[in-house]
Amino acid sequence: MQNFDLVILGGGPGGYPLAARMARKGWLVAIVDYTQEFGGTCLNWGCIPTKALLASSRSYHLLKNAADFGLSCSETSFDWQKIQERKNKITVQLRQGIVKMLEKSGVKIFNGYGQLCKDRVIKITGPEDNSVTEIQAKKVCLAVGSIPAAPTVFPADRSIFWTSNEALNTDKVPESLLVVGGGVIGIELGQVFAEFGCKVCVVEMMPQILPGLDNATAKRLLPVFKKAGLEILVGKKVEALAEKDGRAKASIDGVEREFDKVLIAVGRRVNYRFMENSDVQIVTEKGLISINERFMTSEPEVYAIGDAVKGPMLAHKASYDAMILASQWLGENVAADYSLVPSCVYTHPEIAWVGLNEEQLKEQQIEYKTGRSMFSANGKALTAGEGDGQIKTLLTPDGKLLGAIIWGPEASNIINEATMMSQFGINSHDFSRMIHPHPTLSEAFMESVENASGEGVHG
Ligand code: NAD
Repeated sequence: MQNFDLVILGGGPGGYPLAARMARKGWLVAIVDYTQEFGGTCLNWGCIPTKALLASSRSYHLLKNAADFGLSCSETSFDWQKIQERKNKITVQLRQGIVKMLEKSGVKIFNGYGQLCKDRVIKITGPEDNSVTEIQAKKVCLAVGSIPAAPTVFPADRSIFWTSNEALNTDKVPESLLVVGGGVIGIELGQVFAEFGCKVCVVEMMPQILPGLDNATAKRLLPVFKKAGLEILVGKKVEALAEKDGRAKASIDGVEREFDKVLIAVGRRVNYRFMENSDVQIVTEKGLISINERFMTSEPEVYAIGDAVKGPMLAHKASYDAMILASQWLGENVAADYSLVPSCVYTHPEIAWVGLNEEQLKEQQIEYKTGRSMFSANGKALTAGEGDGQIKTLLTPDGKLLGAIIWGPEASNIINEATMMSQFGINSHDFSRMIHPHPTLSEAFMESVENASGEGVHG
C-alpha cells in the first residue's frame, strides 16, 4: 500500500491549492477526485460555467441594445450550441491548467471515488473499471464539497426538474422556466435564460431574494430584475411539483401554474459519498462536518475544509480554509475568520457585499454612519452605459468600515476596496488620501466613504 504524508479527497478550490501548497513544502501529497479533471463544483458545475453563460447573455443584451451606443445592428440572434461550446472550452482550459499545476507541484493524482476507512486508509474505486486501489496517509483532508439539495418531495426526473447541473448543460433554452428559490443560483441562471427569451418565474419563500443581502438593496433590485425580464415572486412557496404531459405543474401558494422546465435552486448539501459503506463515521452537526479551530474532525488526523464545514459555501472561502490550514500545519498560529468573506452575484447589474449590513448593525446595537454614492454620477459608469447602481458604506463614528453593499458595474471587483479597508483597519480620513485613478468605477467607492465621513464634495 502506498503511503503519503497527506491525502486530500476532492480537487475543488479547497483541495487543489492545499495539495499544491503542501507538496511545494516537501510533503508527499496525493489528491483524489472522481472527475477526470479537477476544479470541483466551481469550475465544472458552478461559478465558471455560470459566468460564461452570463457573459454570453450580457453580450446578447448589448447587441440587442446597440442603438444605445450609436450603433446599428439589423438582425440579432444567438446559437445556444455555440454558447455551450464556448462555456465548455473555458472550463476545459482551466481544468487542464489545474492538473498541470498539480503535476508541476509534485502532487500524485488519483481518479476515482475515495472512500475514507479506518486508520486513514483511502479506498479508491476507479471511474471506469471499478478497480480498487488502497492508499494510506498520515493526514487526510476532506475537501469533498457540496451537491445540489433537491427536496425528496419534488420529482426526481432531471429532464424536467433540473438542478443547476442540468440547467448549465441544457441543449435548448426552454420556453418557460420556474425557478424554485431566489438565491444566487436562481437569480443568476434565471437571468441567463430570461435574456435568451425564456419566460422565467423565480419563486422565493422568504420576504426577500438573495439571503444575506441587506433588505433595502434586495427590495430595490426587484424592479431592476423585472426590467431584465424576470418575474419574481417573494414570500411565496413552491409547495408541490408534478409532471404533466412532459411539462411541469407547480403549486405556488395554492395557485397552479405550468412550465416547460423547473430549476430547483434551494441550496446545497455536503457530499457525503466518501463515508458510504465505510467503517468510519465522522461526527456531523446540522448537515455539516464538525470541526474545531484547527479543522480537525472527530477522526484522528482527519481534517475538513470548504463547503463541507461551517461558513459560507463559496469557492473563495474554501481556498481561504486551505490557506489557513496549510499555515497552521506549517506552524503559524492562525485561525479562520469569516467576518470578511465577500459575497458576489454576477448578474447584470452585479451585486456584492462584505462585512455587516444595516439590519445586523441595528440588531447588534453598533453605532454607525452611512455613506452613499450613485453610479449615475460616475463618469466611467456612464460612458459604459452602466449608470444604474449604488454603493452604500457603513462606518464607525471614527471612520472604520463595518460593511459595504454595492450593486452596479463591476461590483465584484470594487468590493475588494471595502474588504481591504476593513481588514487592515484603514480609517476614512487615511483612505481618502489614496489616489484613485480617474475615470474609474472605484472612485464611486471612495466617494461613498467620503460621503459617510462628511469629507466628500459629491454627496
Ligand atoms: P441559497 O441558499 O442561496 O438560496 C436558496 C433559496 O431558496 C433561499 O432563499 C430559500 O429561502 C429558497 N427556498 C427554499 N425552498 C423553497 C421553496 N419551496 N419555494 C420557494 N423558495 C424556496 O441557495 P442556492 O441559490 O441554491 O445556492 C447554493 C449555494 O451556492 C449558496 O451557498 C450560494 O452562496 C452558492 N453559490 C454562490 C454563487 C456566487 O458566489 N456567485 C453562485 C452560485 C451559488
